[in-house]
Amino acid sequence: MKEKNCIFCKITDREIPSRIIFENDLNIAFLDISPISKGHTIVIPKTHYSNLEDIPDYELAELHKVVKQLSIRIHQKLKIDGYNILQNNFVAAGQVIKHFHVHIIPRTYDDEKFRIKIPRTQTSEEELNNIFKVLKF
Ligand SMILES: [Zn+2]
Repeated sequence: MKEKNCIFCKITDREIPSRIIFENDLNIAFLDISPISKGHTIVIPKTHYSNLEDIPDYELAELHKVVKQLSIRIHQKLKIDGYNILQNNFVAAGQVIKHFHVHIIPRTYDDEKFRIKIPRTQTSEEELNNIFKVLKF
């Protein structure tokens, strides 16, 4: 299933040109045209799913096999020091294109591209217990 005005569906259908570095029956991966770093790659399912909650488990698992395979290749071929796997869900989390996608972002020790500085706060035992009760299965 495709979404009419989705740029990633258009890439899948070759309506928009891209540098596709991998393709199988379910997924494609292509170079990000506005890369954070050299080799920044996007992996998507060929079927339009909006986000993590939308993609079926089987297809999610198959996509992550591709993410792993490509990450190893990018690591070896580009001689980088590491990489980030980034996947945003919903606008509040920075999702811009509403077609499920995973970023592979190559990193080097000195790249200064972006540093993930997650602000941590102290919380109380009571607050932790309250959220624990809400989330525990
Ligand atoms: Zn799409």
